[in-house]
Amino acid sequence: MSNDEVLELFHMLRWPDTKGEPVCPSCGSMGIVGITNRSEYRCKSCERQFSLTGGTFLHGHKLPLKKILLALLIFADGVKSMSALQWCRTLDMQYRTAYVIAMKLREGMMKENEARILEGNVEGDAAYCDTVERKPNEKAVAEKPAAQLVQADAETADGDVAPNAKRKRKCEPPIRRCVMVIRQRSTEARGGATRTVVAVIPAENGEDVDRLFKKHVALGATVSTDQHPSYSMLSFYYDLLQVNHSERYSGPNGENINQAESFFARLRRMQIGQMHHFDEHLLGYAVEAAWRDDYRRRGNGENAKAFLSLLLGSDTDHKWRNFCRYTKRRAGGDVTELAPVPVVPMAA
Ligand SMILES: [Zn+2]
Repeated sequence: MSNDEVLELFHMLRWPDTKGEPVCPSCGSMGIVGITNRSEYRCKSCERQFSLTGGTFLHGHKLPLKKILLALLIFADGVKSMSALQWCRTLDMQYRTAYVIAMKLREGMMKENEARILEGNVEGDAAYCDTVERKPNEKAVAEKPAAQLVQADAETADGDVAPNAKRKRKCEPPIRRCVMVIRQRSTEARGGATRTVVAVIPAENGEDVDRLFKKHVALGATVSTDQHPSYSMLSFYYDLLQVNHSERYSGPNGENINQAESFFARLRRMQIGQMHHFDEHLLGYAVEAAWRDDYRRRGNGENAKAFLSLLLGSDTDHKWRNFCRYTKRRAGGDVTELAPVPVVPMAA
């Protein structure tokens, strides 16, 4: 694509309702004058200046538009996502830039996820993440029962720490978090799942299951789950099918949660192969895995365009805005601008 074609694509996705014609973000007027080049404008009605990417996730970006598009195309290629480190090496850009763009994409997906309603045949399931405890360094510690370790940790009579105390387990216990997924099956035979809603809850429990299904699943849907007790109260609102996993994976009446399991397979491989740590951004990564699974049959060109409209269609009220600038300030020591301004009481 030439630079003009890239610019035209950005315009089309930024202002899809007017087929790429700029619209003033403050008064909605279409009387616009281009200033320096085709991506800087001034409104004739309210005199306000604005740019092609101003007020979107790409507000204040410094990368050339063509490089952003190329980056999104490469990101769309990753079936199980792409780590920011690999992404920045491929494109020869800073790690922080790649990380922030990926996080902004995930935030755009989270907004879509929040508003999604499912209907028809729906499956629900939950799985725990980060459940495996890291093994201690020394074999003897790993094999010693916990009670003996506690005893060995006690201080000796003369106040010295017992030698065994140094071998205390240093690894943190795992923080179990539960990813809940609700997926809508395709109406076509062998069509898989087409739409997905994801949430992070502390544990698989009836209260959260009830809340999430009421929020995201339309009444009259047929819901398939496993036999975990937290799903039993769904039978009050939906036609509930439960599969007994100790006997079979799929029942004769369509009771199975294979599409939900398919999502978890992708999420777990994403953790092992790409991300390694989900940490506090677990929901963002889970939503991304769901997005990739929903659009798995669409070409990567279309997916890259969808990524771009996520970045261009959102408002400015998001967590990652100015992330680079503020972390740079904190790291560089120039913190005076961030310090709170003292309030001086007015004289009587
Ligand atoms: Zn205006």
